[in-house]
Amino acid sequence: MTTDLSDAPLRLTFLGTGDAAQTPAYGCHCPACERARRDESRRRRPCSALLEAGGQRYLIDSGLTDLAERFPAGSLDGILQTHYHADHAQGLLHLRWGKGAPLPVLGPPDPEGFADLYKHPGPLDFSNPFQAFERRALGQHRKPGGQIFVTAILLAHSKITFGYLIEYGERKLAYLTDTSGLPDESKTFLQQFRLDALILDCTHPPTAPDAPARPQNHNDLTRALADAHAIAPAKTCLTHISHTLDAWLEHHPLPDNSPPATSFAYDGLALEYSNSRQCV
Ligand SMILES: [Zn+2]
Ligand SMILES: [Zn+2]
Ligand SMILES: [Zn+2]
Repeated sequence: MTTDLSDAPLRLTFLGTGDAAQTPAYGCHCPACERARRDESRRRRPCSALLEAGGQRYLIDSGLTDLAERFPAGSLDGILQTHYHADHAQGLLHLRWGKGAPLPVLGPPDPEGFADLYKHPGPLDFSNPFQAFERRALGQHRKPGGQIFVTAILLAHSKITFGYLIEYGERKLAYLTDTSGLPDESKTFLQQFRLDALILDCTHPPTAPDAPARPQNHNDLTRALADAHAIAPAKTCLTHISHTLDAWLEHHPLPDNSPPATSFAYDGLALEYSNSRQCV
């Protein structure tokens, strides 16, 4: 007997919302790091999320180093990989000597990947990367229920990186990290949708436009808010947050000109949507 899961909600749970250094950062005694050592709920782990919809479960990025304990073999349908920097991919090293059915790792067509994963992939299946702006149905014909569609969005980072537009029923989320601004074609593409939620890189506190060194590979708060304004989602969740930004936020509120319903994500936050707007 099969179970109809087409009415199952779309849920995205933030497993980590930190930058490469995480919070607390090793050896750092800034107020944000000291607070995170005292209060577990203020920690920020490697930036990643769990996508659940229609009876399927996909990990978005694999930087957590305890993936084998969190997700025993068979509990994931695949991994959406934004790119192959260590803070997003290091957890794969703990899975690749395992056994069991192939686990699809769907990411950008990066010829290098991470470490020697391509040489010794074990059950990880890197054979079917996305192309930029390719739209793909996930897990087709594998399980009953609502279909998830994912489109790869080209981002602006130091290594080929994709964000993902996730469509489920009438729901649309975009998960965009790591990036510094957005390529014009990606911004134009996203502007055609009314997103339920935009999840966006916001690594650094604001830097002045005339500062000698503006961040090259990640958004500061100013750039993140500008792109959120341009895309105009119903809600914006900022992620990939550095301890430096957390320390800055202790003394600064979100600017008044922030788009409506803008907030900072935190580890454990879950966004949940029914797959039809009518039955909310
Ligand atoms: Zn990162
Ligand atoms: Zn710190
Ligand atoms: Zn990165």
